[in-house]
Amino acid sequence: MHDWSKGAAIIRGEIVPIAEARIGVTDWGMTRSDITYDVAPVLEGAFFRLPDYLARFAASRAALRLSIPEDDAAIRATLHAIVARAGLRNAYVAMVASRGAPAVPGSRDPRDCVNHFYAWCVPYLRVISAEVEARGARIWIARQTHRIPEDSINPRVKNYHWGDFTQALFEAYDHGADTAVLTDHAGNIAEGPGFNVFCVSGGRLITPRGHCLEGITRQTVLDAAAEAGVAAEVRDIPLAEFLDADEVFTATTAGGPVPVVRVDDRILGNGAPGPVSEMLRERYWQMTRRAALRDPVVYA
Ligand code: PLP
Repeated sequence: MHDWSKGAAIIRGEIVPIAEARIGVTDWGMTRSDITYDVAPVLEGAFFRLPDYLARFAASRAALRLSIPEDDAAIRATLHAIVARAGLRNAYVAMVASRGAPAVPGSRDPRDCVNHFYAWCVPYLRVISAEVEARGARIWIARQTHRIPEDSINPRVKNYHWGDFTQALFEAYDHGADTAVLTDHAGNIAEGPGFNVFCVSGGRLITPRGHCLEGITRQTVLDAAAEAGVAAEVRDIPLAEFLDADEVFTATTAGGPVPVVRVDDRILGNGAPGPVSEMLRERYWQMTRRAALRDPVVYA
Protein backbone atom coordinates (compact mmCIF):
# COMPACT_ATOMS: atom_id res chain seq x y z
CA MET A 1 0.00 0.00 0.00
CA HIS A 2 1.14 3.53 -0.79
CA ASP A 3 1.85 5.76 2.18
CA TRP A 4 0.43 9.08 0.98
CA SER A 5 0.74 10.62 4.45
CA LYS A 6 4.48 11.11 3.85
CA GLY A 7 3.70 13.29 0.85
CA ALA A 8 2.95 13.25 -2.84
CA ALA A 9 4.57 14.46 -6.05
CA ILE A 10 3.59 15.10 -9.62
CA ILE A 11 6.18 14.27 -12.27
CA ARG A 12 5.46 14.01 -16.00
CA GLY A 13 1.81 14.62 -15.19
CA GLU A 14 1.45 11.67 -12.84
CA ILE A 15 0.74 11.91 -9.12
CA VAL A 16 2.87 9.45 -7.14
CA PRO A 17 3.73 8.91 -3.46
CA ILE A 18 6.74 11.03 -2.51
CA ALA A 19 9.03 7.99 -2.09
CA GLU A 20 8.48 7.09 -5.75
CA ALA A 21 9.20 10.53 -7.23
CA ARG A 22 12.28 10.46 -9.51
CA ILE A 23 14.06 12.65 -12.03
CA GLY A 24 16.70 11.46 -14.50
CA VAL A 25 20.42 11.54 -13.84
CA THR A 26 21.12 13.49 -17.07
CA ASP A 27 18.66 16.26 -16.16
CA TRP A 28 20.57 19.55 -16.01
CA GLY A 29 18.69 20.27 -12.80
CA MET A 30 20.84 17.45 -11.34
CA THR A 31 24.11 17.87 -13.21
CA ARG A 32 24.26 21.69 -13.23
CA SER A 33 21.82 22.95 -10.59
CA ASP A 34 20.14 24.49 -13.63
CA ILE A 35 16.80 24.66 -11.92
CA THR A 36 14.60 26.98 -9.95
CA TYR A 37 11.94 26.30 -7.38
CA ASP A 38 9.63 27.82 -4.86
CA VAL A 39 8.02 26.59 -1.67
CA ALA A 40 4.59 27.61 -0.40
CA PRO A 41 3.07 26.58 2.92
CA VAL A 42 -0.24 24.91 3.62
CA LEU A 43 -1.32 25.87 7.12
CA GLU A 44 -4.40 24.37 8.73
CA GLY A 45 -5.90 23.34 5.41
CA ALA A 46 -5.14 26.35 3.21
CA PHE A 47 -2.28 27.75 1.16
CA PHE A 48 -0.99 31.04 2.55
CA ARG A 49 -0.20 33.89 0.10
CA LEU A 50 -0.07 31.45 -2.82
CA PRO A 51 -0.32 34.17 -5.53
CA ASP A 52 2.88 35.72 -4.15
CA TYR A 53 4.75 32.42 -4.34
CA LEU A 54 3.45 31.78 -7.86
CA ALA A 55 4.55 35.27 -8.95
CA ARG A 56 8.05 34.78 -7.54
CA PHE A 57 8.30 31.35 -9.21
CA ALA A 58 7.28 32.90 -12.56
CA ALA A 59 9.88 35.68 -12.14
CA SER A 60 12.57 33.10 -11.33
CA ARG A 61 11.74 31.08 -14.45
CA ALA A 62 11.86 34.19 -16.60
CA ALA A 63 15.23 35.19 -15.11
CA LEU A 64 16.73 31.79 -15.96
CA ARG A 65 14.98 31.58 -19.37
CA LEU A 66 13.19 28.42 -18.31
CA SER A 67 10.00 27.81 -20.19
CA ILE A 68 7.40 25.28 -19.05
CA PRO A 69 3.99 24.59 -20.57
CA GLU A 70 2.08 25.17 -17.32
CA ASP A 71 0.72 28.63 -16.51
CA ASP A 72 -0.03 29.91 -12.99
CA ALA A 73 -3.58 28.53 -13.01
CA ALA A 74 -2.33 25.06 -13.98
CA ILE A 75 0.45 25.18 -11.37
CA ARG A 76 -2.03 26.23 -8.69
CA ALA A 77 -4.40 23.39 -9.64
CA THR A 78 -1.52 20.90 -9.53
CA LEU A 79 -0.34 22.05 -6.11
CA HIS A 80 -3.88 21.75 -4.76
CA ALA A 81 -4.19 18.27 -6.28
CA ILE A 82 -1.04 16.84 -4.68
CA VAL A 83 -1.81 18.30 -1.24
CA ALA A 84 -5.37 16.93 -1.42
CA ARG A 85 -4.04 13.54 -2.58
CA ALA A 86 -1.62 13.39 0.35
CA GLY A 87 -4.33 14.63 2.69
CA LEU A 88 -1.92 17.03 4.38
CA ARG A 89 -3.46 19.87 6.39
CA ASN A 90 -0.04 21.37 7.09
CA ALA A 91 2.45 21.01 4.28
CA TYR A 92 5.66 22.20 2.68
CA VAL A 93 4.81 22.41 -1.01
CA ALA A 94 7.63 22.69 -3.56
CA MET A 95 7.17 23.68 -7.22
CA VAL A 96 10.17 23.13 -9.47
CA ALA A 97 11.18 24.05 -13.03
CA SER A 98 14.23 22.26 -14.36
CA ARG A 99 16.26 22.73 -17.53
CA GLY A 100 15.73 19.02 -18.23
CA ALA A 101 17.86 16.81 -20.45
CA PRO A 102 18.91 17.73 -24.01
CA ALA A 103 16.61 16.38 -26.72
CA VAL A 104 19.79 16.04 -28.80
CA PRO A 105 21.87 13.47 -26.86
CA GLY A 106 25.20 14.88 -25.69
CA SER A 107 24.34 18.46 -26.64
CA ARG A 108 25.92 21.17 -24.48
CA ASP A 109 23.46 23.78 -25.73
CA PRO A 110 20.86 24.77 -23.11
CA ARG A 111 18.42 25.59 -25.92
CA ASP A 112 18.28 21.87 -26.73
CA CYS A 113 16.98 20.97 -23.28
CA VAL A 114 13.36 20.09 -22.67
CA ASN A 115 12.38 22.22 -19.67
CA HIS A 116 9.90 20.62 -17.33
CA PHE A 117 7.81 21.25 -14.25
CA TYR A 118 7.28 19.01 -11.26
CA ALA A 119 5.99 19.53 -7.75
CA TRP A 120 5.97 17.73 -4.44
CA CYS A 121 4.62 18.13 -0.95
CA VAL A 122 5.59 16.71 2.43
CA PRO A 123 4.28 17.32 5.95
CA TYR A 124 5.07 20.89 7.07
CA LEU A 125 8.69 21.18 8.12
CA ARG A 126 10.79 23.71 9.90
CA VAL A 127 14.24 24.93 8.86
CA ILE A 128 14.91 25.50 12.57
CA SER A 129 13.39 22.84 14.80
CA ALA A 130 10.55 23.56 17.21
CA GLU A 131 12.86 22.70 20.14
CA VAL A 132 15.46 25.25 19.04
CA GLU A 133 12.71 27.79 18.36
CA ALA A 134 11.38 27.33 21.92
CA ARG A 135 14.71 28.23 23.52
CA GLY A 136 15.79 30.66 20.78
CA ALA A 137 18.30 29.94 18.02
CA ARG A 138 22.06 30.28 18.29
CA ILE A 139 23.56 31.53 15.06
CA TRP A 140 27.10 31.77 13.83
CA ILE A 141 28.18 34.35 11.26
CA ALA A 142 30.25 32.40 8.76
CA ARG A 143 33.76 33.84 8.33
CA GLN A 144 35.18 31.26 5.93
CA THR A 145 32.39 31.33 3.35
CA HIS A 146 30.49 34.25 1.84
CA ARG A 147 27.16 34.21 0.04
CA ILE A 148 27.68 33.65 -3.67
CA PRO A 149 28.02 37.03 -5.49
CA GLU A 150 24.84 38.40 -7.05
CA ASP A 151 26.41 38.77 -10.48
CA SER A 152 27.31 35.07 -10.47
CA ILE A 153 24.07 33.59 -9.13
CA ASN A 154 21.11 35.88 -8.51
CA PRO A 155 19.94 35.14 -4.94
CA ARG A 156 16.50 36.57 -5.75
CA VAL A 157 16.00 33.52 -7.98
CA LYS A 158 15.34 30.66 -5.58
CA ASN A 159 18.05 28.15 -6.38
CA TYR A 160 19.88 24.96 -5.50
CA HIS A 161 23.34 26.57 -5.28
CA TRP A 162 23.69 25.66 -1.63
CA GLY A 163 27.44 24.89 -1.48
CA ASP A 164 28.11 28.12 0.44
CA PHE A 165 25.26 27.48 2.88
CA THR A 166 26.39 23.91 3.56
CA GLN A 167 29.99 24.93 4.29
CA ALA A 168 28.70 27.71 6.55
CA LEU A 169 26.53 25.20 8.43
CA PHE A 170 29.56 23.02 9.18
CA GLU A 171 31.43 26.09 10.41
CA ALA A 172 28.44 26.98 12.62
CA TYR A 173 28.22 23.47 14.08
CA ASP A 174 31.96 23.61 14.86
CA HIS A 175 31.16 26.66 17.01
CA GLY A 176 28.23 25.08 18.82
CA ALA A 177 25.60 27.06 16.89
CA ASP A 178 22.30 25.80 15.49
CA THR A 179 22.65 27.46 12.12
CA ALA A 180 24.64 30.00 10.12
CA VAL A 181 24.19 33.44 8.62
CA LEU A 182 26.37 34.49 5.70
CA THR A 183 27.69 37.90 4.71
CA ASP A 184 28.31 39.17 1.20
CA HIS A 185 31.85 39.90 0.01
CA ALA A 186 31.57 43.49 1.26
CA GLY A 187 30.80 42.26 4.79
CA ASN A 188 27.08 43.02 4.84
CA ILE A 189 24.62 40.52 6.29
CA ALA A 190 23.01 38.43 3.52
CA GLU A 191 20.91 35.43 4.62
CA GLY A 192 21.09 31.92 6.06
CA PRO A 193 20.46 28.41 4.73
CA GLY A 194 16.75 28.69 4.06
CA PHE A 195 15.87 31.93 5.81
CA ASN A 196 16.08 35.72 5.79
CA VAL A 197 17.29 37.64 8.81
CA PHE A 198 16.10 40.71 10.68
CA CYS A 199 17.65 42.75 13.44
CA VAL A 200 16.09 45.30 15.75
CA SER A 201 18.15 48.31 16.83
CA GLY A 202 16.73 51.15 18.90
CA GLY A 203 13.19 49.93 18.17
CA ARG A 204 13.72 49.94 14.37
CA LEU A 205 13.37 46.78 12.32
CA ILE A 206 16.09 46.24 9.70
CA THR A 207 16.53 43.53 7.06
CA PRO A 208 19.14 43.23 4.29
CA ARG A 209 18.49 44.85 0.94
CA GLY A 210 20.60 42.66 -1.30
CA HIS A 211 22.35 39.29 -1.52
CA CYS A 212 19.26 37.44 -0.40
CA LEU A 213 16.00 35.98 -1.54
CA GLU A 214 13.13 38.44 -1.26
CA GLY A 215 11.30 36.17 1.15
CA ILE A 216 7.52 36.03 1.30
CA THR A 217 7.79 35.55 5.07
CA ARG A 218 10.06 38.58 5.21
CA GLN A 219 7.35 40.53 3.39
CA THR A 220 4.66 39.30 5.80
CA VAL A 221 6.85 40.38 8.73
CA LEU A 222 7.32 43.81 7.09
CA ASP A 223 3.53 44.03 6.59
CA ALA A 224 2.99 43.06 10.24
CA ALA A 225 5.51 45.70 11.33
CA ALA A 226 3.73 48.37 9.26
CA GLU A 227 0.42 47.44 10.87
CA ALA A 228 2.01 47.56 14.32
CA GLY A 229 3.58 50.96 13.64
CA VAL A 230 7.15 49.64 13.86
CA ALA A 231 9.53 51.57 11.60
CA ALA A 232 11.30 49.25 9.16
CA GLU A 233 14.29 49.63 6.87
CA VAL A 234 15.41 47.42 4.00
CA ARG A 235 19.07 48.27 3.55
CA ASP A 236 22.62 46.99 3.88
CA ILE A 237 23.49 45.85 7.40
CA PRO A 238 27.25 45.90 8.04
CA LEU A 239 28.39 42.97 10.19
CA ALA A 240 29.47 45.27 13.06
CA GLU A 241 25.99 46.81 13.22
CA PHE A 242 24.35 43.38 13.23
CA LEU A 243 26.61 42.19 16.04
CA ASP A 244 25.51 45.20 18.07
CA ALA A 245 21.75 44.75 17.51
CA ASP A 246 19.25 44.55 20.39
CA GLU A 247 17.33 41.67 18.81
CA VAL A 248 17.76 39.28 15.91
CA PHE A 249 15.35 36.82 14.32
CA THR A 250 15.10 34.63 11.23
CA ALA A 251 12.14 34.34 8.83
CA THR A 252 11.15 31.58 6.44
CA THR A 253 8.13 29.82 5.01
CA ALA A 254 9.31 26.64 6.73
CA GLY A 255 8.77 27.73 10.33
CA GLY A 256 7.91 31.45 10.23
CA PRO A 257 9.89 33.94 12.33
CA VAL A 258 12.27 32.37 14.87
CA PRO A 259 13.97 34.35 17.64
CA VAL A 260 17.76 34.34 17.95
CA VAL A 261 19.29 34.42 21.42
CA ARG A 262 22.97 34.11 20.55
CA VAL A 263 25.03 35.57 17.70
CA ASP A 264 28.56 34.16 17.60
CA ASP A 265 29.48 34.12 21.30
CA ARG A 266 27.28 37.08 22.24
CA ILE A 267 24.08 36.41 24.21
CA LEU A 268 21.18 38.69 23.25
CA GLY A 269 18.53 39.90 25.71
CA ASN A 270 19.88 37.78 28.57
CA GLY A 271 19.17 34.71 26.47
CA ALA A 272 15.45 35.36 25.98
CA PRO A 273 13.64 36.34 22.74
CA GLY A 274 13.27 40.13 22.37
CA PRO A 275 9.92 41.94 22.72
CA VAL A 276 9.74 43.27 19.13
CA SER A 277 10.62 39.83 17.71
CA GLU A 278 7.96 38.19 19.86
CA MET A 279 5.30 40.73 18.95
CA LEU A 280 6.01 40.30 15.23
CA ARG A 281 6.12 36.52 15.49
CA GLU A 282 2.68 36.54 17.09
CA ARG A 283 1.32 38.94 14.44
CA TYR A 284 2.84 36.79 11.69
CA TRP A 285 0.92 33.71 12.81
CA GLN A 286 -2.25 35.78 13.18
CA MET A 287 -1.83 36.97 9.59
CA THR A 288 -1.56 33.39 8.36
CA ARG A 289 -5.16 32.94 9.56
CA ARG A 290 -6.57 35.88 7.55
CA ALA A 291 -9.12 34.59 5.04
CA ALA A 292 -8.05 37.09 2.36
CA LEU A 293 -4.56 35.58 2.31
CA ARG A 294 -5.71 31.95 2.32
CA ASP A 295 -6.56 29.58 -0.52
CA PRO A 296 -8.31 26.56 1.05
CA VAL A 297 -7.51 23.06 -0.17
CA VAL A 298 -10.52 20.91 -1.02
CA TYR A 299 -9.85 17.46 0.45
CA ALA A 300 -11.72 14.46 -0.94
N1 PLP B 1 16.57 32.69 1.80
C1 PLP B 1 16.76 31.47 1.28
C2 PLP B 1 18.09 31.10 0.73
C3 PLP B 1 15.71 30.54 1.26
O1 PLP B 1 15.91 29.32 0.74
C4 PLP B 1 14.47 30.92 1.80
C5 PLP B 1 13.39 29.96 1.76
O2 PLP B 1 12.71 29.40 2.22
C6 PLP B 1 14.31 32.19 2.36
C7 PLP B 1 15.40 33.06 2.32
C8 PLP B 1 13.01 32.64 2.97
O3 PLP B 1 12.05 32.90 1.95
P1 PLP B 1 10.52 32.62 2.15
O4 PLP B 1 10.07 33.40 3.32
O5 PLP B 1 9.89 33.09 0.89
O6 PLP B 1 10.36 31.16 2.39
